[in-house]
Amino acid sequence: MRPSVTSGTRTPSPGAVVSTEVPESGTLSNLSKEERRFEPPAGLAEHANLKAEAYERAASDVEAFWAEQAERLSWETTWDRVLDWDDPPFAKWFVGGRLNASYNCVDRHVEQGRGDKVAIHFVGEPVDGRPENQRAITYAQLKDEVSQAANALTDLGVVAGDRVAIYLPMIPEAVVAMLACARIGAPHTVVFGGFSSDALASRLEDCQAKVVVTADGGYRRGAASALKPAVDEAVVKAAGLGHEVSAVLVVRRTGQDLGESGWNDGLDVWWHDAVGGASTEHTPEAFDSEHPLYVMYTSGTTGKPKGILHTTGGYLTGTAYTHWAVFDLKDDDVYWCTADVGWVTGHSYIVYGPLANGVTQVLYEGTPDSPERGRWWDIIEQHGVTLFYTAPTAIRSFMKQGREIPDQRDLSSLRLLGSVGESINPEAYMWYREVIGGDRCPIVDTWWQTETGAMMISPLPGVTAGKPGSAMTALPGVAADVVDENGDSVPNGSGGYLVVKGPWPSMLRTIWGDDERYRDTYWSRFAEQGYYFAGDGAKKDEDGDIWLLGRVDDVMNVSGHRLSTTEIESALVSHPKVAEAAVVGAKDEDTGQAVCAFVILRDSAGDGGDDIVSELRKHVRKEIGPIATPRQIMVVPELPKTRSGKIMRRLLRDVAEHREVGDVTTLADSSVMDLISRGVDSGK
Ligand code: ATP
Ligand code: MG
Repeated sequence: MRPSVTSGTRTPSPGAVVSTEVPESGTLSNLSKEERRFEPPAGLAEHANLKAEAYERAASDVEAFWAEQAERLSWETTWDRVLDWDDPPFAKWFVGGRLNASYNCVDRHVEQGRGDKVAIHFVGEPVDGRPENQRAITYAQLKDEVSQAANALTDLGVVAGDRVAIYLPMIPEAVVAMLACARIGAPHTVVFGGFSSDALASRLEDCQAKVVVTADGGYRRGAASALKPAVDEAVVKAAGLGHEVSAVLVVRRTGQDLGESGWNDGLDVWWHDAVGGASTEHTPEAFDSEHPLYVMYTSGTTGKPKGILHTTGGYLTGTAYTHWAVFDLKDDDVYWCTADVGWVTGHSYIVYGPLANGVTQVLYEGTPDSPERGRWWDIIEQHGVTLFYTAPTAIRSFMKQGREIPDQRDLSSLRLLGSVGESINPEAYMWYREVIGGDRCPIVDTWWQTETGAMMISPLPGVTAGKPGSAMTALPGVAADVVDENGDSVPNGSGGYLVVKGPWPSMLRTIWGDDERYRDTYWSRFAEQGYYFAGDGAKKDEDGDIWLLGRVDDVMNVSGHRLSTTEIESALVSHPKVAEAAVVGAKDEDTGQAVCAFVILRDSAGDGGDDIVSELRKHVRKEIGPIATPRQIMVVPELPKTRSGKIMRRLLRDVAEHREVGDVTTLADSSVMDLISRGVDSGK
C-alpha cells in the first residue's frame, strides 16, 4: 500500500527572515518550512501498540500512566509510591519496589516458555576460518551465560554496589557482562572500545571500578586490533591517580599477542576459565527500585565527560515502554539497532529495553562498509530485519555513495525505521524513507539524551503523520516543551529552549559523585520553574510540532538574528551535490557573527565544479533567505565527528576563526582536523 502524502514539495519561506529588526534575545529565528506529511500505514495504525488516546490518558494522570508502564516488568515487591519528588531535583520512582533487571531481561522469558526464542543473532566481522563469527543465542542460552558470568564476578569478589568497568568490542560478551553486573547489583560503566587508555583510566578512577572486563582485541575491517594493552596502561594510570583495580577479566576474541605488558598473573583472569568454568545456576536477588544500574559517561561533545547515573526500576520501565511503543514491537519482529553498546543508545535500545521486551535482535560487530559497502543491507536481507534503528550520520554517508548499493538488496522485510543522535535533515529523511524504507515504512525520529535514559520526543508510528526533519511530539507521559528565556512556553511558530517540565522514570538521578554539578547543569537554568534544561534549541511549528535546532552552544547570532545550525545544514544537504554539511558562526566585524559552512560532496558530484561555492550560497539564500547565506563555504573531504558520529562544531569554529584547533581527543579520527585545516589554508 502506498502511504498518503498530502503535499510533496519543500517550500522555502522567503518572507520569514526579511525583517532587519533585532528579535528578542533568546528566541531562535524560525527559518525553514516543511509541508510534506506521511500518514501511518493503515495496517500499522489499526494494530498499533499505542494509540492516540494514550496522550490524553497520560496527561490526565501521569503517575497512573507510568505505573501502568511499570507493570510490564516483573517486580518481586510492588512499589508503595509511584514518585517521590519531595526533594527536587532528586527523584525516586516506584519507591519501595524491588526487582532484578537481569531477571527481567532474561529469566522471565525462559520461565514464560520462550527459552528457545533467539535473543541475539550475532553477526561478527567476517574473518576467515572463524566459525564463531556468526551465532544465534537463545534466551535459554543467554540465561546460562549471564548466570555463569554473575557467578564468576562474585568469585572475583564483586558484591552489590561495587562498580565494574566494561571495555569490550561489540560481541555478545558485552551484553552478557552488562546483564551479569545488573544481576548481582554491581553498577557497570561501559567504556567505548575505541577510547584511549587515558579516557579509560579517568573513568576507572572517577567511578572507582573494582574489576575491568575486556578482551585481547576486536576485529575492525577484517583485522585484529588490540584492546588489552590499553587496559594494562589504564590500570597503571588509575593507580597513579590513587585507584587500584583488583581484577581484569579477559575475553579471548582474536587470540592475538597480548603486547608488551603481556599477562599479569596477579590481576588477569581469562573469561573462558572463570566464566566458562562457572555454574549456570544463579539465583538473582531483587534490588531496590532506586539501586544504581549503571554509570554512563557522555561522549563529551561539549566538555568534560559527565558520569550519568541511572537506577533500576524507572530506567527499565522507561526503556521497555518506549521500545515497545515507538517501534510498535510485535512478537515476530527482528530488530536491529546499529549503535555501539559503549553509548547510551546501546544500553537502552540494544540491552535493556529490547531484552526486557523479549525481542529477537541482530548484534553487529563491524563497520557499515566493510568488507563491502552493502554490508548492512545484506544483513537486513539475510536476517529479515523488520525494525531498524540508526543515526543520521550513517544515512548521509550512504547517500554520499548513491542508492545503487541498497537498491541491489531485498529490503522488503523492513516495516519501520528509526533515527537518533542528531536531527535528521529532511533530505536524509526522504532518502531513508524512499531508498531504505521502500516508501512504505514510517520513520521515527527519536530525540533523547544519555541523561533522559529513554526516548522523549518521537512520532508514534501508528498515530503521527510524520514530517521530514521533525521529532514531532513528546511521548505520552513526557512533559517536553519549548520555552523562551523566561521559561514561558513559546507560541507555535517560535523557537527557544527545549525543557522537560517534570520528572520522568528513566531520568538521570545525578552525576556520579557530583550532586552539585547535576543541579547546576540541568536544573539551575530554569530553577524557578523547576524545569529540566536539555541544552538543545528547538522550535514549535505552526501545528505545535517540535523541531530540534541543534545545541544552544552552537546557535549563531547574525545581525541580531539567532540562527540554528540544523536548518542551514539541512538546506545545504538538500542540494543534490551535497552529502553532509556542518555550519558554525565565526566572528564578523559587520554582522557580529557570520555563517561559515563546511560541506562534503556526494560521490556523483566529483569536485562540484568551479562554481560550487556560489551555487551553494545561492541555494541557501533561496531555501532559507538572505540572512542565512554563508559568508564562506569550504568543500572538505571529512568532518570532525565524535565516535558516536556527531559533528564537533567547536573544532570547526576554531578553523573558521583561524585559531589553533582545540582538544581533539574524543574525535573518531583526529587526523581529520589536519586534512580540513590544510585544505582551508590552501584556499580550497
Ligand atoms: P555531551 O553531553 O557530553 O556533550 P552528547 O550530548 O553528544 O555529549 P548524547 O547524550 O549521546 O551525548 O547526545 C544527546 C544529544 O544528541 C542531544 O542533546 C541532542 O543534541 C542530540 N540528539 C539526539 N537525538 C536527536 C534527535 N533525534 N534530533 C536532534 N538532536 C538529537
Ligand atoms: Mg549532551
